[in-house]
Parts: sequence; structure tokens; C-alpha cells
Amino acid sequence: MERRALTKFTDLNLNPKVLKAIEETGYLTPTPIQAGAIPPALEGRDVLGIAQTGTGKTASFTLPMISTLYRGRARARMPRSLVLCPTRELAAQVAENFDAYAKHTRLTKALLIGGVSFKEQEQIIDKGVDVLIATPGRLLDHFERGKLILSDVKVMVVDEADRMLDMGFIPDIERIFGLVPFTRQTLFFSATMAPEIERITNTFLSNPARIEVARQATASETIKQGVVEFKPSRRDREGSEKRNVLRALIESEGEACRNAIIFCNRKVDVDVVAKSMKKYGLDAAPIHGDLDQSHRTRTLDGFRDGSLRFLVASDVAARGLDIPNVSHVFNYDVPSHAEDYVHRIGRTGRAGKTGTALMIATPRDEKNLDAIERLIETTVPRVENPLKSGGTPAPEEAEDEVRTSEPRPSRSRSRSRSRAESTEKVEPATEQTVEPGAEDKPASASRGASSTPRSRSRSRGGLGRGGSAPVVGMGEDAPAFILQSFNERRGGPSAPDTHDDGADDASQVETGTDDPDGAKHDAA
Ligand code: AMP
Repeated sequence: MERRALTKFTDLNLNPKVLKAIEETGYLTPTPIQAGAIPPALEGRDVLGIAQTGTGKTASFTLPMISTLYRGRARARMPRSLVLCPTRELAAQVAENFDAYAKHTRLTKALLIGGVSFKEQEQIIDKGVDVLIATPGRLLDHFERGKLILSDVKVMVVDEADRMLDMGFIPDIERIFGLVPFTRQTLFFSATMAPEIERITNTFLSNPARIEVARQATASETIKQGVVEFKPSRRDREGSEKRNVLRALIESEGEACRNAIIFCNRKVDVDVVAKSMKKYGLDAAPIHGDLDQSHRTRTLDGFRDGSLRFLVASDVAARGLDIPNVSHVFNYDVPSHAEDYVHRIGRTGRAGKTGTALMIATPRDEKNLDAIERLIETTVPRVENPLKSGGTPAPEEAEDEVRTSEPRPSRSRSRSRSRAESTEKVEPATEQTVEPGAEDKPASASRGASSTPRSRSRSRGGLGRGGSAPVVGMGEDAPAFILQSFNERRGGPSAPDTHDDGADDASQVETGTDDPDGAKHDAA
């Protein structure tokens, strides 16, 4: 706080057009990562920013980039800067930020993500763009088609590197580093510094200014947490009873619950819960990787602009997204990776606002709840089940259509696989395609080269547990759009089966929440 008060945007030597845009955005003072990263970035130095979403890190690289690129024009097919993001949503978010901060300049950008036709993107690149914002696989696809020349890149940004690692993008990143000029400036951001990330930064960054900002408070000041311990009356009623508890919790929060994200471990539950809530008159919509990109964008836009009150989400779909003003987070399921809990509840209580995070835990979740409490070094306060009857299903719900669409107990295959394995074994299509999401995967994987089993499993094993410092920013997995959509496209009977049960939410693959023994398989 004190540090923020010392610096003003006008002290930072930013281009006046950028300052004007900032003023219009309404930011008063730079956040610590901005105050720390912008000056060295403007001096042309490499920057290693250790900061997570919510700290203002996007502006900390976008603002100096715009200032640096302000003079000069891009030539056809030769972008002057690259921003690499692990997911489409994050790339789109960066693009939005760029649009806002560059609005008084003539700089142009292109967004290279799956779900948009190559042709359309090529046309934009052909005209020449100053800033190329891309997911690594898609960028390499364009490069390999010979449509992109990277020899004029002056600034390269790697955003959310730890998530790149989690998703197997590191070989692609290394390759891209090899394709851009040696003299480029690198701005590199990661929420955590896994050994693999350290290695990359040692290899590709040159004497970087290292700026580390404090992890967001996880458990403390702004987020009020609670957990309802609930025991279903019968195993086959667990789903409907949990949905009853969820609705009762929402009700008990009353007006204070302006809006909420409801997290489920599994995509199937995302759909079932959203459907059930709608049935009970709650304004809810699902978001997960099996939904096509335009649908996801529409849903998110609705939630952002307040026209949708409840977003029911999987971890991957909601990860890293900056949605301000979320009053509540409900964990319909206890996440099976403790770091995911930190991520989930961090969707609320942002930017100093207060928020509430409530979770439903069944006896089977005990081990995962323990892991969460160890990670956040706090006991999550127990909250009384607002349903006096202990969650007995409302008669209308007990046998309703929502229940009929609940999943059968998961296939045994999916229960015992580790998360890293699951991301590797479900093979996406290898051909180039313009369908949603098919490109947002490690290019190395799509080309049959060994992806990064090593780095991926390392990242999980090395970061989620044991360490004294709580870790955030991890837990991302193969986004469903890597694995999804082939069913629609191929229409074959086998594809949905392969991809359906948990590629999006790896925890689904791993934990088999509807398996009473699921916890046994959870290696953690
Ligand atoms: P980010 O960490 O980049 O995802 O940013 C988190 C949120 O902080 C976004 O909603 C930004 O619009 C907002 N933000 C970024 N910089 C500032 C600032 N200096 N003052 C206030 N809000 C900011």
C-alpha cells in the first residue's frame, strides 16, 4: 500500500498516449508489479515478474510494450512483438487490455487462438501487426505454414509461464524463443518459480530485473470462508441433496450474494448443477471446455456485465479470468488439488473488495479438505447446513430430470489416472483444423513429438504439496478445448467417450468424485 502511494503513473515515463488511456481507465496509481516492472521494461531490460492474476500484471507488460512500439510500423507478416498466453481466454483478455491501453495509438494487434479460422488470422497478419497475442501451439502452426516471420520481434512476453508448464507448453515456448531474434527484449511472468521455469528464465532471459509481488491473501482479510460438512442420506441421492444444500446456501446469503461462481470438479456436474439451478429459478449458466468458444465468450460476457447472476464453472474454464466484483464463490465440490481452492476462492474478494467463499464437503472429502487447510494454514470455519433436514432432497428434485442426467459412477479408467497422465494420453486430433480449441495445445504434442511428460509431472509433484510456502497459480490442466470438440467434429461414437470424462477438469479424471473410494486413488 505504502509503496503504491509513492509512485504515480506519470512518474513512470510512459508515453503520453498511454497515460491518457490509463487515466480514462480510471486507474489512480500503479500496482506494485506495475511500479516494479514498467521502469526496467521501458529501459529495454528483460523483466522477470513473479506475480499472479489480479495483481495488475497484464498492464505491467502491455503499457511499456505500447510505449516501446509506439514509434515504428509493422511490416507484412512481421509482428513487432509477441505475447504468449496459455489459454484462449487469457489471450483474449490480454487483447482486451491492449485495446484499452492502445486506443490513442495506431498500433495494431492480432489474436492467434484456436476457434478462429487460419484464413481470417492470416489476412490480419498479412497486413502487418504490431502486437501478436497468441497461444503457443497456434502461433507455431502459423509459423509452420510459412505465414509468419518472427525476425522482427522486438519484445516477447510470456504470460503465466507456470501454467504453460502445467499444460505442456514449455517445449513450444523454448522453440519460439529460438525463432525470435536474440536481441529481443523478454518480459516473463509466472505466479510461481518451479525449477523448470527457473531453468527457462536462466536460459532465455538476459540479466532480468526480477520483480516479485506478494501473493494475494488467500485465506485472510477480504475473503470470508466457510465449509458446510454434509453427509448425504443415501449415496445415490448425493447429487440432488448437494444441489439442495447449494441452493439453501445461496438463499441464506440473501441479497449479499449479488453474483457467484459455482465450481464443480467435473464438467458433467457443471451442466447438471446449472440445469438444476435454472430449474429452480436461479439465473445460471454453465461454462466448461466442451462448450464452443462463442458460447463460452457469451456466457462470460453476460456474467461480467451482470446480466447473468450465476456462473457454474470448471476450474479450467474459469482459471485466471479476471472477473471483477464477484461477491461469492461456492465450491459445490471440494477441489482435489488444494491449490485449486486458492484459485477458486480468489475469484472473489478481488482488489480489496470483500467476498465470501462457501464450500460443501462430504465425508469423502475429508482428506482433500485437510490438504486445503494445510496449504492455506487456516482452518476453514465450519458453517451450519442451512437445511435443517440435513439436505434431504426437496420432493420436486429427488427424482427429477436433473438427476437422470447425472453421470453414472465413473469408469474405472478415469479414476486411477494421474492428472498429468490424463493430459497426455487423451490424444487430440493431429490434423490442422479450425474448429474451436483444436489448436490450443502444445504444438509438440500435436506433431507427435514427445510433449513434456517430465515437466508436467514435475510441476505437479513439485509444487502442490509439502512446501512450506503455499503455492498458487498451479493446477491448470489440459484445457478441455484441447480434448473436446473432436466429438462434434468427427461425430464418431468413440470420440465423446474418450474426451468426455474429465479432460477438461482433470480432477474429474483423477478423483472420480462419485466413487466412494475415489479418495484412495488420489495420489496426493
Ligand atoms: P491482471 O492481474 O492483469 O489480471 O489485472 C487485474 C485487474 O486489475 C484488472 O481488472 C485490471 O483492469 C485491474 N488493474 C490493473 N492495473 C490497475 C491499477 N493500476 N489500478 C487499479 N486496477 C488495476
